[in-house]
Order: sequence, then structure tokens, then C-alpha cells
Amino acid sequence: MSKVKYYYDPDTLSYRKIELKKTRRYRNIFLFILGSALFGFLGLIFLLNTNILNTPRELSLARELKNYELRFELLNKKMEQVEQVLANIEDRDNNIYRLYFEANPIPEEQRRAGFGGVNRYKSLEGFNNSEMIIATTRRLDVIQKQMVIQSRSLDEITKLAEDKEKLLASIPAIQPVKNEDLTRMASGYGWRSDPFTKARKMHWGMDFTAPKGVPIYATGDGIVTRADNNASGYGKHIRVDHGYGYMSLYAHLSNYNVKRGQKVKRGDLIGFIGSTGRSEAPHLHYEVWKDEERINPINFYYGSLTAEEFENMLKYANQENQSLD
Ligand SMILES: [Zn+2]
Repeated sequence: MSKVKYYYDPDTLSYRKIELKKTRRYRNIFLFILGSALFGFLGLIFLLNTNILNTPRELSLARELKNYELRFELLNKKMEQVEQVLANIEDRDNNIYRLYFEANPIPEEQRRAGFGGVNRYKSLEGFNNSEMIIATTRRLDVIQKQMVIQSRSLDEITKLAEDKEKLLASIPAIQPVKNEDLTRMASGYGWRSDPFTKARKMHWGMDFTAPKGVPIYATGDGIVTRADNNASGYGKHIRVDHGYGYMSLYAHLSNYNVKRGQKVKRGDLIGFIGSTGRSEAPHLHYEVWKDEERINPINFYYGSLTAEEFENMLKYANQENQSLD
């Protein structure tokens, strides 16, 4: 700026100094300052964007933000593990527990159902990290819902298991006479010759021969509906209603150990071997009824017999011999 400039004046034939007008000079100075300021401002923006000029507080906040992102990532990894464990439980629930207790599996759509209606994540919108936070929150919400459904299903299973336990305790499952008291398993269910007429006749129960007075046990939990001598042929007999359509009948007794209306448990002593009614010799005639039909009692000893004992019983029961009625 301080450089002096000259021009040639043809009138005086000499070089003359160029005198800048003051206003022009100020304008140049102003333009120079404006240019510098603009350049400086652009430089500042550049520096701010490259994080070089952040304040310590900004730097610490940025670090904190990074830390949050990392934590969210770790939380998501953990949620993935939870989802896997839950999926495993759900699989067992549908394919083992519910199947075993004859309950319908819970459909996948129901277990994974989302949340319709209002946008429950509205308050999380509008931030740089909204997407990450909403995704994580939604994931946790789905897990929570799955847990509730799973938990309810297990409650249901517990209830079914209790019912099943009651059912298993109720239906006839043991031999009504102890093996050591038994002379022999005399006759099974099926076509047998009648001890009195010798004609072939359907034998609706199983005969256990034992000396008079040997104890007879209830084969399942239930209520004594009859303990009397008023049914033709059966003599002194006991009927136990087990519920679920099951009834057991014990005939030809010498004596009773229970009364009508009494509650009994499986294994309770209810009466004694005899030969009352239509009977050829002291024995127990035992019947199992399901829904008013007499069925083969051979299928109801799983609670008390070894495989070998069952094999033996099956052999005797299938012999086409004469029943004792
Ligand atoms: Zn019989």
C-alpha cells in the first residue's frame, strides 16, 4: 500500500506521482478487512466441523455420547441372548409341556405380536440417536410381552399338571389284592366257561383267588357309592366312583371295611375276600368301568406291578379257563 505509483504526463513531459483519492483508499481498506473477516469465518466453521476447536465440555459430552452408544450395543447383545433363551423355553412349552397336557400350542403370531394403535415411542423421536433408542426400547417391549405370555402359559401348565395328578391318583392303577396274599390270578376278562352252567359266557372282570378274610384295597382315589348285598350275583360288593368316568367294583366279599359315601385313597383297605353271591370259591371278582362300560382291568395295574409280574398276570388272564364268577 505504501508503494508510490507514477504516471507520465505528456503536457509537462515528466512523471508525476499518482495521488489516490482518500475515499478510494478507505474503500480498499474496508474491502481488505471484509475479505479477511470472511476468510477467517469460513476457517472457523471448518475448524469447528473437524472438532479441532471443541471446548473441553463439548469433548467430554461427545465421549459420553459414544459411551452410551457402546452401552446400547452391549444391551442389545444381552437382549439377543435373552431372546434365544426365551425362544428355547417357548419351543419346549409348545412342543413338550403343552403337547403332554393336551393343550393347544400358542401360535407364533400371538407370541410375537407387536403393539398396534398409538405410537408409544413418540417421546423418543426427534433426536440424533432416536432410531437406536426406539429400536432398543421396542425390542425390550417385545421381550417383556413374550415373557408375560410365556409365564401365563406355564401357569396354565401347572394347573393342567395338578389336574393330571388328580386324574392319575383317581383312576384305578394297582392290584386290589397284594401279590403275597394271592393264591393265584384265576381268571381274566373275556370269554370263559361259566363255573355253574359250563356254558361259554363273557366274564366282565378279573378273578383273584385268595383265602377268606384277605384284605382288598381300593385301586384309586374316589368315593364309595355302594357297599351292599343288593346286586344280583355280586354278593357283598363295593363300588368306588373315581370321577373322570371311572368306577371300580369289588365282589363276593366276606365283609366291608368302608361305608357308602366314604372317601377312599388308593391303597386303603376297603373289604375282605369272601365267596358271597354267585361264587364257586373264595375269590375277588374285580371290574373296572369307564363311562358305564366294563373294560379289561388288565390295563390298570401300571402302578404296582413289575414287568415280570405283569407278564405273569397277562399269561393267566389270557388262559381260556373257567372263571370263578
Ligand atoms: Zn369273576
